[in-house]
Amino acid sequence: MSYIDEVLEKLQQNYPEQPEFLQATREVLTSLRKVITAHEEEYRRNALLERLTEPDRQILFRVPWVDDSGQMRVNRGYRVQFNNAIGPYKGGLRFRDNVTLSIIKFLGFEQIFKNSLTGLPIGGAKGGSDFDPKGKSDREILAFCQSFMTELYKYIGADEDVPAGDIGVGAREIGYLYGQYKRIQGIHTGVLTGKGLSYGGSLVRTEATGYGLLYFTQEMLKQNGLSLEGKRVAISGAGNVAIYAAQKAIQLGAVVVTMSDSTGWIYEENGIDLPAVRVIKEEKRGRLSEYAASHPSASYQEKGNVWSVPCDVALPCATQNELGLEDALLLVKNGCIAVAEGANMPTTAEATSYLMEHGVLFGPAKAANAGGVATSALEMTQNSERLSWSFEEVDTKLQEIMVSIFHKAEEAAKKYGMAGNYLAGANIAGFEKVAQALLAQGI
Ligand code: NDP
Repeated sequence: MSYIDEVLEKLQQNYPEQPEFLQATREVLTSLRKVITAHEEEYRRNALLERLTEPDRQILFRVPWVDDSGQMRVNRGYRVQFNNAIGPYKGGLRFRDNVTLSIIKFLGFEQIFKNSLTGLPIGGAKGGSDFDPKGKSDREILAFCQSFMTELYKYIGADEDVPAGDIGVGAREIGYLYGQYKRIQGIHTGVLTGKGLSYGGSLVRTEATGYGLLYFTQEMLKQNGLSLEGKRVAISGAGNVAIYAAQKAIQLGAVVVTMSDSTGWIYEENGIDLPAVRVIKEEKRGRLSEYAASHPSASYQEKGNVWSVPCDVALPCATQNELGLEDALLLVKNGCIAVAEGANMPTTAEATSYLMEHGVLFGPAKAANAGGVATSALEMTQNSERLSWSFEEVDTKLQEIMVSIFHKAEEAAKKYGMAGNYLAGANIAGFEKVAQALLAQGI
């Protein structure tokens, strides 16, 4: 049996209850087959794949807090420090009721390769909790964040592990988490990224994942003789990534026709009124159904999803496995030319294969959405230097990083005879650097 299949089988035996983690490891290792086969003996002797697929450590903890009625509640906290071969652990925190160890592990595993691809010295990690800020008061969120950090602070540090936001963890939560860290440790340090501008945050960090997704997509289209100008873009989600992806798409001359949240989706044939979406989602923390109420030209539906609308470019920016095979069939039928992933693992393996087999340009998450973590690393640099760069300076660096990520993925795919397969290319380019570092450092 090949080394890859041996490792995949062992993972299957060890973690049958972790479907997302198994899905991510299978996707990555399978696409690395040519590289690994070329170094099979060396990698096997060094247990390279076992060391890559088993986290350095998993920290699981209890998070007790008191709700507004005086009731004590308990949630689960997680931090999975996956791999620090090329730099301190780095990866977001996700607060959502469906968070499990499997989800945190899949995200942490993917983060290793994504961070490597950025070209910056950051390792892979992820964390979070099954606590959902939706529907909670500000005081409850503060209480939860303080309790969460009261345990997490022991394991993180500016040169050790630097968490950031993800689903359910935005500027407000990062502020509360940072405040508690500072209160316990008594130091101002770049221990979290995504911080507010008044206390060490970086300009462009808020926009970075969405903007970076569009810079990547633009480069992918350009290299294939296409452009975003006048293209109809379907976006899912209405959170941090989706909103700034929509903003940049519009700035680049595209027409954004859909957005969604966890209760429904909107379709606006002549283009979504993004400022209105921002008021509803960023200021009121409301539902997209409110958009339809104030925009008669839009349709709002709770059933189905945004992929049924004809579009040229599809940008899944909500959550994992939100674009399945049936959606891929529809996208191809409707003439979609490119799919680029803003969310992590939003496209199922079957859907990805179908899209690529039918000539749809496919920008995989770990390349296309790496702008967020790349800008987090730029925030770390500014914190170390005790400087704040201008918006233009950070945005220019972000653009350069995204263009360079595209080319690394493109070249790696070509090198292994898979031209145009940016999914394999991104995995290979991310993997090669981490593999070299692991081998160089010994066990
Ligand atoms: P947010 O919490 O800001 O937004 C998530 C959005 O997706 C919300 O609009 C939410 O709806 C919607 N959503 C969540 N689950 C579902 C679902 N099952 N069906 C439909 N809509 C859903 O998170 P982010 O924008 O930060 O993250 C989105 C994705 O991007 C995640 O996969 C994350 O891992 C990934 N990502 C984020 C980065 C970042 O910098 N923030 C960096 C790289 C990747 P509702 O408003 O109802 O909650």
